[in-house]
Formats: sequence, C-alpha cells, structure tokens
Amino acid sequence: MKIPFNKPYLTGKETFYIQDAVYSGHLSGNGKYTKKCQKFFEEKYGFKKALLTTSCTDALEMCAMLLDIKEGDEVIMPSYTFVSTALAFVRQGAKIVFVDSCKSQPNMDADAIEALITSKTKAIVPVHYAGVSVDMDKIMQLANKYNLYVVEDAAQGIDSYYKNKPLGGIGHLGTFSFHETKNVIAGEGGLLIINDDKFVERAEILWEKGTNRASFFRGEINKYGWVDTGSSFLPSELTAAFLFAQLENIEAIQRKRISNWHQYYNGLKGLEQDHKLRLPVVTENATNNGHMFYIVCNSENERAQLIEHLKEEQIYAVFHYLSLHNSPYYQSIHGQRELPLSDYYSNHLLRLPMYYELSEDAILKIVDRIKEFYDKPISING
Ligand SMILES: *Cc1c(COP(=O)(O)O)cnc(C)c1O
Repeated sequence: MKIPFNKPYLTGKETFYIQDAVYSGHLSGNGKYTKKCQKFFEEKYGFKKALLTTSCTDALEMCAMLLDIKEGDEVIMPSYTFVSTALAFVRQGAKIVFVDSCKSQPNMDADAIEALITSKTKAIVPVHYAGVSVDMDKIMQLANKYNLYVVEDAAQGIDSYYKNKPLGGIGHLGTFSFHETKNVIAGEGGLLIINDDKFVERAEILWEKGTNRASFFRGEINKYGWVDTGSSFLPSELTAAFLFAQLENIEAIQRKRISNWHQYYNGLKGLEQDHKLRLPVVTENATNNGHMFYIVCNSENERAQLIEHLKEEQIYAVFHYLSLHNSPYYQSIHGQRELPLSDYYSNHLLRLPMYYELSEDAILKIVDRIKEFYDKPISING
C-alpha cells in the first residue's frame, strides 16, 4: 500500500456545483458561488470583507498594492516560508528584511523583530506555519508603536485561532490558500481578508482590473470605468463552485485532520521523550488546525536516512522550505546576516503524510516504521 505525502480530498459535491455553475450561464468571476464562499468566511469567522482570488500568491500581491509598497520600502517577514510571501512584495520594489525562526518551532521570532525596524519599514508579514499562530499580540504592539501594517500570511491557517480570534482576522489584511495541498482546496485558489475598513473599496477595484465594476453590479453607480491600477485577481465561478463544496464540509475535514495529528503525536511522543526527535509545538494562545504533522530530526543526515527508510515501505515524507535569505534570487540582496534557526528547520524538519483519507492503519504503519528506524542499534552517523 503506497502512502503518498498528500492526497486531495473530494467531498462529493464539487462536480455537482460546477455543473450547476455551468448551466446557470454565469462562468466568469463574482457570481453566485463566489458570493457564497465569501459570505461563508464573513459569517463563520466574522471577517469584515473577504474577496476570493486565484491564489494566495495573488492575494499577497493585492496586499502589497493596497499598502502602496514602493521601491526602497522594507518589509519584515520570516525566511522560513514559501517564496510567494516575499515575492509579492519584491514585485512592488520592496527590500525584504528576514527574521529568524523561534527555537521551539519554525514560526518567526516576534522578539527579534524590533531590532530590524527602520524608518523605511512599512509592514510586517507573519506566516502562521503549520496553522499555528505567530505571537500576534507582540506583532500588533510593534505595528502600533511604529505605525506599520500587518499582513497575515494565513495560507496554512484556515480555521485556526489566536486567543479566540481567527487567523487572518487579526492584522490589517490576511490571506488564505486553497491550493490542493491545503486543508480546504480548489485546485488553485486563494482569499484576501480585509480587516481595516479603509482598504475595502480599493481592494474591490484592484480585484476587478482597476475598474469600479463591483460597485456597478451592486447598482451603486450607473456606469463603470478604469479608476486605478489592478489586475484580474478573481477566479471563475468554476473554481468557486468547487470551493463551496469543500467549505460545506469544513467541520468534518478539520475533525479528521486534527484526529490524524493526535494519532501521530501520541504514537511518537515516546521517541521525543528519548530525545530521538522533536515533535510540533502548539504555542500558548494558539490552536492546531491539523494542517501539517512534522518531526524535527537531530541531523540532516539522519533525516535523509529516515526519508529513505520510509520510502522503502512506499511512505512518502518530505522536507520543506529552504531559507529564502539563502536563495539564489535573494542571497546577494540579503547579505551576510545569519539566520541559524531558519536554516536549522530547512535541514532538520520532515513532514509526514497528512490528508483527510489517511487511515488509522496507515498512521500506525508510519509510526511503527519511524520507531523501527530509531530503535535500530546500529550507527546512523555514516
Ligand atoms: C501555500 C502557501 C502560499 C501560496 O499559496 P498559493 O495559493 O499556492 O499561491 C503562500 N504562503 C504560504 C505560507 C503557503 O503555505
């Protein structure tokens, strides 16, 4: 039995809703299903305004445009993140100032931010790694003190909370992803959350190619035209119809993923007690949304051997980000400042298979195989 790293889950109604969208005659964006999805987020999580986008990358690009990020502006974010977090701001001319990870877990170290703030700093972009919140009180305090904007990259953070506040709803702006590797999927898809009223009107304009078409469709104006910059950030109704079927099942999806997570955790905690590996940390004030289950190995070599040991049984575990500050595209701009903890997670963290249809038996098999690896008395330093 092959156990892939990820397997997209279908709730069963996706094609039914797509068919409905097709035959209803409205295929472009901002139709019935787009509105249903946006309303779902506004009602369930109390977000002020939600706009469906074609990806989280696009939603982040909209954030950079909304904040008027320009050449010379500085934006603070973790190095241990996906390319898009940085790229969206780099496209507007920003210089990215990378922060190191925490010692206990890969999220950015909120205590390391203040020393990096300069007169050019415009925004802080916390990334909620594995759906576990960054220390948002500290980030929002710094934002208030220095008059900065906060954009939450909550691509992995759906249905997760910080002090009872939903992730994506704490900063001025927030973004989600519905890429097929996330908890709730649409193939490719994303969402922009606008928590600060002053961005709402302009966000709709950027979303609709720089036109005020959205307010035209609501009957607020009698003709629409080109009023600002923007792009075609909105997905078609086919994407929204697929997504809506997923959202209707979000509670079952979350329940199953969180249960998978706990089965892994309970199965592996003996190895952590024996200092063979480290398990994920859900920090104080944060919740766990079952997005990911990772372990932290004691060495890069040990991780490579464990990956092979699992692969022999057709179990596919994968490592994650390579620090962005060392990337071919950005290392010369970043310079020499070292971020050892970000590099540590690049070299030691391993993600185990995690998806809705992952069975208890499969997790048992993975846990046993990992235990077998660490129980081997032979040297693993070779
Ligand atoms: C998945 C992910 C993205 C990108 O999402 P897309 O929808 O694929 O553009 C950005 N940031 C983080 C942290 C992610 O995990």
